[in-house]
Amino acid sequence: MTGQVVRKAVEPSARGLALLQDPTLNKGTAFTEKERDALGLRGLLPPHVLSQDEQVTRVLTNLRRLSDPLEKFIALNSLHDRNEALFFRVLCDNIDEMQPLVYTPTVGLACQKFGHIFQRPRGIFIGANDRGRVAEILRNWPYPAELIVVTDGERILGLGDLGANGMGIPVGKLSLYAACAGIHPKLCLPVTIDVGTNNETLLSDAYYVGLRQHRITGAPYDELIEEFITAAHEVFPGVLIQFEDFANHNAFRLLARYRNRICTFNDDIQGTAAVALAGIFSALRITGAKLAEQKILFLGAGEAATGIADLIVSAMVAQGLSQAAARERCWLVDSKGLVVKSRADITAHKVPYAHDHPPLADFLDAIKALKPTAIIGVAAVGGTFTPQVLEEMARLNERPIVFALSNPTSKAECDAEQAYRHTNGRALFACGSPFDPLQFNGKTFVPRQGNNSYIFPGVGLGAIVSRARHVTDDMFMAAAHALAHLVSEADLEQGSLFPALPRIREVSAHIAKAVAETAAKSGLAGKPAAPDMLKHIQAQMYDPRY
Ligand code: NAD
Repeated sequence: MTGQVVRKAVEPSARGLALLQDPTLNKGTAFTEKERDALGLRGLLPPHVLSQDEQVTRVLTNLRRLSDPLEKFIALNSLHDRNEALFFRVLCDNIDEMQPLVYTPTVGLACQKFGHIFQRPRGIFIGANDRGRVAEILRNWPYPAELIVVTDGERILGLGDLGANGMGIPVGKLSLYAACAGIHPKLCLPVTIDVGTNNETLLSDAYYVGLRQHRITGAPYDELIEEFITAAHEVFPGVLIQFEDFANHNAFRLLARYRNRICTFNDDIQGTAAVALAGIFSALRITGAKLAEQKILFLGAGEAATGIADLIVSAMVAQGLSQAAARERCWLVDSKGLVVKSRADITAHKVPYAHDHPPLADFLDAIKALKPTAIIGVAAVGGTFTPQVLEEMARLNERPIVFALSNPTSKAECDAEQAYRHTNGRALFACGSPFDPLQFNGKTFVPRQGNNSYIFPGVGLGAIVSRARHVTDDMFMAAAHALAHLVSEADLEQGSLFPALPRIREVSAHIAKAVAETAAKSGLAGKPAAPDMLKHIQAQMYDPRY
């Protein structure tokens, strides 16, 4: 990363109408009298000059008049297309209200309807037929990317294969990188690798934006990904590549293949792990118990579940347990029931957690048999933390840990009200999508999102400012600790296991510092550490104020 990485001043190079039509430079009615004269804008704008603050108020007033979240998403997207700085100012100053619109849950709906609400392209699409010219395509991107979020659209949130419509996810995640971690939007490149889709509804949808073909698999798929990785490094040397919403049969393989070769991570596996571990650290501050005493039962056995389990195991090992003993404390339930050694159908990522136990088909039976202290839902099947499940957890534990992490909201294992009601207000609860504060038994609970959006912006920022050669599990461990440290006693008092979202830029700066210091300690930093790393990072963060 060069000197002013993340912030990079944007000097207007365009004039007149071209300036107003360039969203990266446009300030609309906020261009001052002086700028209007100097930049050939006189007469092209209505006479009254508005401040950016006034523009923000106008945007919010118009947005709040809309009742449908998808309409709000479309309005925000249009603003992004017209005036990037104003879009990010609205996001930064109102992150509680805006994150659920630009990210989960609304982004899920936006991906499902992507072709129908499509207005202007954003990012780079690479198609299955683009073998041999991926570098040439990436060169069409006019900015110097330092961060790529890439998807192949096969497992969008818990919504399955949405093909090229999945582009909403890299776009949304990169908006959060800019808003939450201050990485300049010009350095962020969303990429969708369109290898086809097996979603027949999309294939027969006249407005579907992607290739009309089934997914390519095997060697042709791997060769396209390899060409993309090589080309990305040729065009944008040292770029950080975040894999996003790949199906688990590719996600684990690709992470294993590239993690020690380039600067990369998979947020679904590693980012989720760090946010869940931070949430557990917070819950244990309330119960006073030790991590090494926990028994954790996952509903789901995919990227999120095994990613979280692996990081919990590392944290337990750091507290003195052997790896085998730590693994014994993590159990998985997948679509076929409890993951046990005797099952013949266990895929590689589940093997460490396939323990000796009689098979059990049912999640509730698994709870009764194993007596977990925590249940973590990451199966993308809505409503699976039933009243019976929650009541049993409350019977077994004074303060049961209940994380319903599946997204979007329709896939949540339970909602906040159910979690508190069926545990008599004793659940230590976190959810993947947002839920409003609520009253139960005269107490106000403020459930906060156990969402990797607390983690990935800071991790990306830390990797970029330190010019890390790789992103390691130690960095995610450091990120989890940094996040947990920012949870106050007042947060815990109201049942919040994470800091308030409006603190996200402070959170991201602390996480970035922890990641950059870990990179330096492990010899993976491409730049010497700054004497005051936090200040150094904060000074570089993108600020969308004009
Ligand atoms: P994945 O496809 O890798 O894994 C899903 C797992 O669920 C698989 O192991 C599958 O066998 C299992 N499963 C399916 N049906 C089941 C059932 N009826 N009972 C038990 N298990 C069942 O997906 P993933 O990446 O692990 O994501 C899973 C969910 O977690 C998604 O909804 C995703 O949006 C959510 N997620 C949330 C966060 C967050 O930050 N909160 C982060 C990552 C993923």
